[in-house]
Amino acid sequence: MHTLPPLAYDYDALQPHISAATLKLHHGAHHRGYLDKLNALVSGSPLEGLPLDAIVRQAPRPSPLFNNAAQAWNHAFFWNSLRPPVPGGGPLGALRDRVEVDFGGPEGFAAAFKEAAIGVFGSGWVWLVREGEALSIVTSGNADTPIVHGQTPLLVLDVWEHAYYLDYQSRRAAYASAVIEHLLNWEFAELNFEGELAVHG
Ligand code: FE
Repeated sequence: MHTLPPLAYDYDALQPHISAATLKLHHGAHHRGYLDKLNALVSGSPLEGLPLDAIVRQAPRPSPLFNNAAQAWNHAFFWNSLRPPVPGGGPLGALRDRVEVDFGGPEGFAAAFKEAAIGVFGSGWVWLVREGEALSIVTSGNADTPIVHGQTPLLVLDVWEHAYYLDYQSRRAAYASAVIEHLLNWEFAELNFEGELAVHG
């Protein structure tokens, strides 16, 4: 049974950039909905009992099982990619050095990540990933996820309309800017960069 992971912060902790109403709906209804469908689909299947990331990797693609498992995994990773605003909360240490090499610094990263977010056609995700030593920004459509493409995700931004429509209507660029400037959890990114975190969801 895959259960909804609690957030590490309150529903109102990301305001004014993401409202409590959005977070409550997104976590409590959308994310929960993917888990409910996943549990129904995996029950009695050969993948029942496996950790969530293993189901994502092993489910046939495309399939409803993959879509719901991957959306459950992507959302858990998204909640960890955010944190309440803190002063000076950018990348640090070895990850900061890598951001300098690959994007020319945090400002270059922010511009490229925002451009990628604007460029996703329809529903999808924008990821900072590590492939070997290098960082890159990749996008995925619908439920697709870099963990089935040999990439190690460090951070993700949900650009499905349900992530921002209540707060920003169609202004996805404003939503992306607010999250990039104020809410990205670079400590989580660093753990993923160093390979210290095993995310099973
Ligand atoms: Fe979402």
